[in-house]
Amino acid sequence: MRIALLALAAVVLAPVARAQAPLPGPKPTPVYEDTAAGAGYATFHIRAVRPVEELRREALAASPPPQPDSLLAPDLVDLTTLDPAIRLEIRYATTNNFMGAALYTSARAFMQRPAAEALRRALERLRPYGYGLLIHDAYRPWYVTRMFWDATPDSQRTFVANPARGSRHNRGCAVDLSLYDLATGAPVRMPSGYDEFSPRAYVAYVGGTALQRWQRELLRWAMEAEGFVVNSTEWWHFDFRDWARYPVLNLRFEDLARL
Ligand SMILES: [Zn+2]
Repeated sequence: MRIALLALAAVVLAPVARAQAPLPGPKPTPVYEDTAAGAGYATFHIRAVRPVEELRREALAASPPPQPDSLLAPDLVDLTTLDPAIRLEIRYATTNNFMGAALYTSARAFMQRPAAEALRRALERLRPYGYGLLIHDAYRPWYVTRMFWDATPDSQRTFVANPARGSRHNRGCAVDLSLYDLATGAPVRMPSGYDEFSPRAYVAYVGGTALQRWQRELLRWAMEAEGFVVNSTEWWHFDFRDWARYPVLNLRFEDLARL
């Protein structure tokens, strides 16, 4: 009895290593509603407290937090140059986003080169299952993070990154993405919409259909196998493991286009 208790204690107290997500089992057969792929989610909104043009003017005049010289030099890669199966749907360049206003001046997606190459390898894992990558957001200039923060009422600021620290998107090492069907081009339906701030967005959410959960888990498997880590409250957000080695950047997309 005592030995059994000791063995139990050893199991319970053993440190839990952060395991990479496993490959999910066989693809479930859709039972209902999955035929409406990509449709049916209303975009989540907050009420911006001030006009976007005013926010942009102020944010562009502000300075990001100072960065240590020891960090790596930026080497941002346009994700669309990697593979035609990487498609963009940059919601922040449209009014279809949680702020209801176009925050980006163009629809572009960049990541630091090692993260971009890891993303391409994740795509290679997904292609045999018939999926391509649909990118919603990648590198985000610091001034846009500042705009999010300034626009958001105090009570809802848990949803946005604090510009005093900057975000992993500002370092070119975070990506928001989903899957689309390579055969039809249709975005897949996940257990929640993108940028939906609700428990349905959690990676451990057990609702939705079996196929929706399987697709979420397949995306996580492919990304974590290539060095990304999912955000536990946003199934679409992945951080590249080396994010802390890159500085918070404030290069505008227009600056990058000229490089
Ligand atoms: Zn994100």
